[in-house]
Amino acid sequence: MMDELSAELERRRAAHLYRSRRVVEGPQGPEIDIDGRRYLSFCSNDYLGLANHPKVITALQSGAARYGAGSGAAHLVTGHSMPHHALEEELADFTGRPRALLFSTGYMANLGVVSALLGTGDAVFEDRLNHASLLDAGLLSRARLARYEHASPSALERRMGSSRARRRLVVTDGVFSMDGDLAPLPALAEVAARERGWLMVDDAHGLGVMGASGRGSLEHFGMALDAVPVLVGTLGKAFGTFGAFVAGEEALIETVIQSARSYVYTTALPPSVAEATRTSLRLVIDEPWRRDRLRTLIARLRAGLAALDLPRRGARLMDSPSPIQPLVVGSAERALAVSAALAARGVMVSAIRPPTVPEGTARLRITLSAAHDEAQVDRLLEALGESLAEAASDT
Ligand SMILES: *Cc1c(COP(=O)(O)O)cnc(C)c1O
Repeated sequence: MMDELSAELERRRAAHLYRSRRVVEGPQGPEIDIDGRRYLSFCSNDYLGLANHPKVITALQSGAARYGAGSGAAHLVTGHSMPHHALEEELADFTGRPRALLFSTGYMANLGVVSALLGTGDAVFEDRLNHASLLDAGLLSRARLARYEHASPSALERRMGSSRARRRLVVTDGVFSMDGDLAPLPALAEVAARERGWLMVDDAHGLGVMGASGRGSLEHFGMALDAVPVLVGTLGKAFGTFGAFVAGEEALIETVIQSARSYVYTTALPPSVAEATRTSLRLVIDEPWRRDRLRTLIARLRAGLAALDLPRRGARLMDSPSPIQPLVVGSAERALAVSAALAARGVMVSAIRPPTVPEGTARLRITLSAAHDEAQVDRLLEALGESLAEAASDT
């Protein structure tokens, strides 16, 4: 067995697709410590700088003092505590929907929601670039899975037109996690309505960030809530903590509670984490300056990259209005080389390779946070200019 596995691992390494972990020695933030060295980091999804916020940490600590370290059981047994319940009500209020339901992770929320809604004989329509958890959710549901061309309402319409399934669910990321672009939600909602489908949006990277008040991609487009009856959000990104939720009407939430296996058969989040998230939700609402700052930094980075004459350096900046700013460099080998050249300059940007992204579009996924400052963005630009040149001469 081990010989066979080792040979496979070796092939993966030779193809520059081997993945490995780094041990981070302190909290998330613009600077992180790895192996005794400090790096300027543009890798995390802590878009608003809340993962290490003192008020959020204090809420976690006092939550643990009051409710203990673990929840002890699943929500339907005795694991559903006051902090969970209060957070659900606050998330429902934040998203403007009657109910919200907490899950332990976004991955589990997606598996649970899609498979609670669909079964054999139904159909699920997914954007080709949807997050892996949404694609897995479609497969697990046993519905027929159709993938449509990225961000294309007309491709969706063709797919739906040729389907005779009774129940039809359209599923999309709000902000695409590896590309940073937004789904064309108003047009997708129109197609879904015309074709008698329901629309589900996973706004993991939009909530807290997009829209003037951080209510996500729907707010960005000024959409009516009923155009998107199923909204999923995650709490480990802009909210800085951990967990996820689905929000919608009473009947949707009760259906998920009754039948989502990744809800029923798992331990509830620690209540202290829910307490921490209640505090970060307050900060998301009360401190719009975090979103303003993020927009300023995004504009600065994009202007700086435009000035670098990227095509001449073998790189392409994707068209993204979000804090996810991917720089496509082509091969996995080159993405690793640029990432290593940046690390040698004390700057951490992760190389994203196939199968996470399509073959030939390996990239540096730069993410910005409201915790960064202008000087740090300028340092990144300088290091990128040098690293792209260096990797071009090596590979
Ligand atoms: C990160 C992410 C998830 C998974 O959320 P976790 O809470 O990390 O499991 C789901 N969907 C999208 C679009 C994501 O980016």
